Amino acid sequence: MKLKITIVLLLLAQLHVFAQQDTPKTKLVVGIVVDQMRYDYLTRFESHYSDDGFKRLQREGFEMKNFHFDYVPTYTGPGHASVFTGTSPMNHGIIANNWYDKFEKKGAYCASDPKATGLGVDPDDRDGKMSPHRMLTTSFADQNRLHTQFKGKTIGVSIKDRGAILPAGHTANAAYWFVAGDQGHFISSDFYMDELPKWVNKFNSSKVVKSYLKEWDTFKDISTYIESGSDLNTYEHGFKGKDNATFPYNLKKLAKDNGNYGILRSTPYGNDMLLDFAKEAITNEDLGQDEFTDVFTLSFSSPDYTGHNFGVNSKEIQDLYIRLDQNIADLLKFLDKQVGKGNYTLFLTADHGAVHVPQYLQDQKIPAGYFETDLMKENLEEYLADSFGLEGVIESIYNNQIFFDYSKFKTYAEFVSAQNEAKHFLLQYKNIDKVYTREMLENSDFSGSPAELVLRGFHQKRSGDVVYVLDNSFISYPKKGSTHGSGNNYDTQAPLLMFGNGIKSGKTYNKYHIPDIAPTISALLGIELPNGATGKIITEVLE
Ligand SMILES: [Zn+2]
Repeated sequence: MKLKITIVLLLLAQLHVFAQQDTPKTKLVVGIVVDQMRYDYLTRFESHYSDDGFKRLQREGFEMKNFHFDYVPTYTGPGHASVFTGTSPMNHGIIANNWYDKFEKKGAYCASDPKATGLGVDPDDRDGKMSPHRMLTTSFADQNRLHTQFKGKTIGVSIKDRGAILPAGHTANAAYWFVAGDQGHFISSDFYMDELPKWVNKFNSSKVVKSYLKEWDTFKDISTYIESGSDLNTYEHGFKGKDNATFPYNLKKLAKDNGNYGILRSTPYGNDMLLDFAKEAITNEDLGQDEFTDVFTLSFSSPDYTGHNFGVNSKEIQDLYIRLDQNIADLLKFLDKQVGKGNYTLFLTADHGAVHVPQYLQDQKIPAGYFETDLMKENLEEYLADSFGLEGVIESIYNNQIFFDYSKFKTYAEFVSAQNEAKHFLLQYKNIDKVYTREMLENSDFSGSPAELVLRGFHQKRSGDVVYVLDNSFISYPKKGSTHGSGNNYDTQAPLLMFGNGIKSGKTYNKYHIPDIAPTISALLGIELPNGATGKIITEVLE
């Protein structure tokens, strides 16, 4: 009798294991990046959010409450590349949005490709000459393509080219981005296809984009927006043609002085318009409809444009996030219907955070300010020339990195001594906090030190020869609006919400990092890790 019961129990246990293994595979992975989304936007504006947007992701999915970038500089290009490749700039090579290419001796843009030709724009138009070729490692979407013998599709969309191209990776079926100006179209390049699909042309010739050139007033009564600063203040740029950066904004009227359709980028309507396009992509490309997992990447760029314009404490940012919550709710509802509840896996994160407007912080007695890079460059050049005869040795300064002209050095020792002289000078310079030379970065163990962030942002071939870090909350930027790029918490902390097929519900305060996303998604899909991935699998979130 006892034996019989044991056998029955064992059988039941096996059945249970079998049932668990039999959970249907996810049909679609949706990777959402909200450009410049600070973690605290989830908490600060919480009382205004609906039950079906961010709160649904938090309730039914898994929330990381201490999630960070682990490198500098925290910009859009490196952010998107790191989320999807599971590593940092030291490996994937996207060291900034723009950097100095010391081999070509000119500036490089992270998504530009002279060999590519745009589709949907004039063939000579630089907006279309784009591809991910500068990204040196694969994304999880690339690995999914290899794993499924290219039967699982990848599509990436964004307002920004880099926000669409880098996440979708090298093997994407398509990436689409928005060109502003007079047209207001979504375009692509011949890196992906020979011509734009019919549904894209149809979307471009429809009145959808145009319909958003309308008034922008607050979604709710502005008097309820008590979680942001006053609407009228001295910390915002606003739009040309309007004296004050205050609601409401007549976008139709303001468009001609603000880049025509380009004005939509710095308003919540940029998110609405992108979501309209995203739904068309998911429907027309049949994403999530068969047994081969597809990947859809969606990067909302308007939060970044709006943050740069109005700053992180503005009513405009509060309104944009209240509306973005509605966009997320709308997207989830759409995916439930189109792909099916429980049939897709979704994550939402950011590509970097943003600083409070330093002038605002100063006015609240918090150390902050502005740094003049050009002036520093002049002073450093003078110092190196006068004291050491190193005339014209600085070839370029990009992203707080000094690039030397190697032809000026007769020996390697001279090169090292120039790095040290520059470091010695910069450490005495006002508002420079830390300085690292190439020699230090290549030869020191920085485990556990703040220099780790610099090291992970330092690509041995592409980066400069001396890297400096500014004082906390000091930026090289106009005195209005917010920016980002540092290794400080306001720039490194990001939300991460994971949701859907294969994801537990819960939350954690354990510290995780941006490069952990791609390995976790790869584990969930049972595919090879992206080839340069250094992040870890977040086992807490997986069912
Ligand atoms: Zn930005």
